[in-house]
Amino acid sequence: MAVVCPECDNPITVDEDEVEEGETLQCDECGIDLEVVSVDPLELAAVEEAGYDDEDSMHLAGEDDE
Ligand SMILES: [Zn+2]
Repeated sequence: MAVVCPECDNPITVDEDEVEEGETLQCDECGIDLEVVSVDPLELAAVEEAGYDDEDSMHLAGEDDE
């Protein structure tokens, strides 16, 4: 099935059996990273955070062991 890139309206073909919620895809047309926010129905959202590759740092952000 195809979903439309929220950034450039390019149709992106996604095999819904091959993706999982939380997975990140990339638009071939504009190169933006798209997170799979839902698989039924299939829905993508643009990922615009810099340094997204380190999820652990995000997790630690709210903790304070003082
Ligand atoms: Zn795009």
